Amino acid sequence: MNFDENYIDNLLNELTLEEKVGMIHGSGLFRTKGVERFNIPPVKMSDGPMGVRFEFEDAKLKVIGLSDDYVTYLPSNSALASTWNIELAYKAGYVLGEEARGRGKDIILAPGINIKRVPLCGRNFEYMSEDPFLISELTVPFIKGIQENDVAACVKHFAANAQETERLWVDTIVDERTLMEIYFPAFKAAVCKANSYSLMGAYNKLNGEHCCKNKYLLSEILRKEWGYDGVIVSDWGGVHDTIDTANSELDIEMSIDYDFDEYYMANPLIEKVKFGEVNEDVIDKKVRNILRMMLRLKMIGDDKEKRKSGTYNTPEHREIALETARESIVLLKNNENILPLKKDKLKKLLVIGQNAEKLHSNGGGSAEIKSLYEISPLMGLKTKLGGNVEVIYAKGYYVPEKDISEINWQETSLESKNEDKEKQKEIEIKAKEENKKLFDEAVMLAKDADNIIIFGGLNHDFDIEGTDRKDMSLPYEQDKLINAILDINPNAIIVMFAGSPVDMTSFESRAKAIVWNWYSGIEGGNALAEVLLGITNPSGKLPETFPKKMQDCVAIKSGEFGKKDVVEFKEGIFVGYRYYDKNNIEPLFPFGYGLSYTTFEYSNLNVNITENNEIELTFSIKNAGQVDGAEIAQVYVTDVEASVERPIKELKGFKKVFLNKGEQKEISIKLSNDDFKFYDIKTRSFKFESGEFIIKVGSSSKDIRLEKLIYLK
Ligand code: BGC
Repeated sequence: MNFDENYIDNLLNELTLEEKVGMIHGSGLFRTKGVERFNIPPVKMSDGPMGVRFEFEDAKLKVIGLSDDYVTYLPSNSALASTWNIELAYKAGYVLGEEARGRGKDIILAPGINIKRVPLCGRNFEYMSEDPFLISELTVPFIKGIQENDVAACVKHFAANAQETERLWVDTIVDERTLMEIYFPAFKAAVCKANSYSLMGAYNKLNGEHCCKNKYLLSEILRKEWGYDGVIVSDWGGVHDTIDTANSELDIEMSIDYDFDEYYMANPLIEKVKFGEVNEDVIDKKVRNILRMMLRLKMIGDDKEKRKSGTYNTPEHREIALETARESIVLLKNNENILPLKKDKLKKLLVIGQNAEKLHSNGGGSAEIKSLYEISPLMGLKTKLGGNVEVIYAKGYYVPEKDISEINWQETSLESKNEDKEKQKEIEIKAKEENKKLFDEAVMLAKDADNIIIFGGLNHDFDIEGTDRKDMSLPYEQDKLINAILDINPNAIIVMFAGSPVDMTSFESRAKAIVWNWYSGIEGGNALAEVLLGITNPSGKLPETFPKKMQDCVAIKSGEFGKKDVVEFKEGIFVGYRYYDKNNIEPLFPFGYGLSYTTFEYSNLNVNITENNEIELTFSIKNAGQVDGAEIAQVYVTDVEASVERPIKELKGFKKVFLNKGEQKEISIKLSNDDFKFYDIKTRSFKFESGEFIIKVGSSSKDIRLEKLIYLK
């Protein structure tokens, strides 16, 4: 949408320096200052991305504790990505936008779209995938959905923010081809295709300069190359100086300090302007971007009365959260078709593991929210099984209680950590004792149980902002527990809850059924129970590779992860399956993988190429099993010969198809010339090289069903 910039010019002519500066920095923890005499309101922001966060005091990171800021808890971005469903991404975005507006917000600090470079990154649960194409395809509708509600999305964190360790200062070294092919595409799509009205600069440095003032990132790429005219907001505490930042493309400085007038872009900036060290024009530019966003959001201007009012906690919102949760669950293993459970034959069910009852909405860092309610798996199962099935629950493992006084993680996450070693030891001793009791109880009950489900995995003590995991191992001695239960009952079903892969090698080969569940929202327990009982046929597929062990990850091997000073992305473009493919490393479960209660047959691949390399693929998929279900067909492209090293294959298209049992559909997917290009560092542009390419159509990145060699001129 283009506006008459005269309106903005007129306002800019009238505003004083102080008024303008008030608009470009936090004046409360989650808002800027308005200008009352011109009816310019403050910009109100909130996290994101699993729902609208609860209210804090304006000038203190203290939860107010209102009774009216409960919201719909949406499945995490990792769950959403696991659906591979573009329409659902739009709907989930719409819910988030409508709730944000309903709560009176102008910007919702979402979605989080950083590349999952290493499974250990504490915030991976908030991000979508290791693959830039999949992220882009889901991000665009998600943002459009948000912004239809007159709320700005704030796509974050730009860019290459791949670890939490020393996140404010770590210098991330990434070469240009890797940025262009891996770390930028989803941001480019967010900006150029979805017109995200705002964007958040990351905490880290990129190639020596902090992202929130980075000239290459913000001026050269974002503003010039992509033509971005939205608002660039800093991450909270991501600004470190006045002059450079004022002269950069950043528009709003946000932080968690309470002396708002002393922010770098507050009084210190006014001083610099008065002493002639900063030109006032650079402030005007920022205010212009902010006013433009306000016009887009109908916060000011002639359309003010037409601004949508939003709403929150509607039954429709909960239904969309449920739909998303259903489609996000990934069936990893199902030998002998032991799932779904047959409800009619079930008399007694033993449920083991704290994740059966643990609620996850109020955790994870800034993504925490107050969910109106949260259906746990245990609750989901019991409500569906009813009174004729005896459900016995054993905690199985001990989760130490968090010290409430530490609860202000957002402040402490920005300081260096001084762990109290003595206290830590005490906690560990207690945990060992408690764990033993719970282990013994579970084992005893298992001896007497025909039907067992173990709910294990992580929680937001591990999937959390501010720290990375040390390794991929399962906490609370779960390996021991799961193996002991499988010794007693080899049919025990394993359900893993987590926002990032865990090491399952100790039990994966002997477990018959494994179900993967992300943090899946307000209705998550219902969705999971539906899958376990066969009411819903699982259709999620992994949006990231699950390696067998941590040492298989390239950045762990190279030591280029979690360092405090400089982290070099030495693997370049070979991230995720691009790396495992190239080095022939067998993952535990590959990218794009997920089973169903039915089977799908692929046939008849045809490739039609027009003069200007517009390509249309058609193929058929048949549901060859006994139940209705959905398949996610994936299209990968291989460049047979290139002047540079290229990945063995890259995802360039996908489609999720719902098929009744026995039904067959013809699928069509379009590709263009751009899908075959690589970034050429010599010309600093994307380059197409004519020649042979292979089109691969598969059910996962490792299960290619159809392929065709084509020649492109
Ligand atoms: C996080 C952002 C978040 C912001 C505001 C920061 O700590 O990195 O993702 O939006 O806080 O809560």
